Amino acid sequence: MQTIVVFSGAGLSAESGIPTFRDAGGLWENHRFEEVASPEGWRRDPELVLRFYGLRHEAIAQAEPNDAHRAIADLEQRYRVINWTQNIDNLLERAGCTDVRHMHGSVFRQKCEHHREAASGKGWCDYLGECPRPVQPGDLCPECGGQLRPDVVWFGESVQFEFSEVHAMCRELEQNDGVFICVGTSGMVQPAASLISLFAGVRRKYLINPDAVPVGDYELLAESASTGLRRLARVL
Ligand SMILES: [Zn+2]
Repeated sequence: MQTIVVFSGAGLSAESGIPTFRDAGGLWENHRFEEVASPEGWRRDPELVLRFYGLRHEAIAQAEPNDAHRAIADLEQRYRVINWTQNIDNLLERAGCTDVRHMHGSVFRQKCEHHREAASGKGWCDYLGECPRPVQPGDLCPECGGQLRPDVVWFGESVQFEFSEVHAMCRELEQNDGVFICVGTSGMVQPAASLISLFAGVRRKYLINPDAVPVGDYELLAESASTGLRRLARVL
């Protein structure tokens, strides 16, 4: 079975009505997105940050996977499909995708504020758990008693992927003539741009985004995620 790697961004979930803060000018209740999605914001006002992510958690829980998510899940009937997503929602999983790796974390996971990547300087804790309901103030880490937070990557924190892992995937696609699909992200911003360049040696590469500009020898489908993925699935 050949392998398809799908790298996705906000455009994949846009048709499910998941709000993107770029659309709102990067603001939420007059707070800049960076203020509620950074270690500094957390230190200043953790309750505000939890309220922000609580609303996102609820909005995602009420949203439904769209045709784009389902088109990717359907590919699993014919391919081994690996999803690398920048999205913190669980719509790919709910559409039926079995291998989803969240580069920017997920609001459906929680970790301790003293987690090694929280840059708290206060401690070192490896607790990580599922998060079926939004994290509340007073929800404490079972290992060290610290306040829990969503396991999402904030501004100034490291994305959750290893380049070595991505390199291994590239080799696999090159060797079995697999497919790389980049959908719902412009591909011009980091880390997407670096990731895309790593797949240069893969023969079959596609970029699906209504606003995308051509990148290298990628075949460009300048349309929405659902339209582009359905069309591509017919020719793969
Ligand atoms: Zn802890």
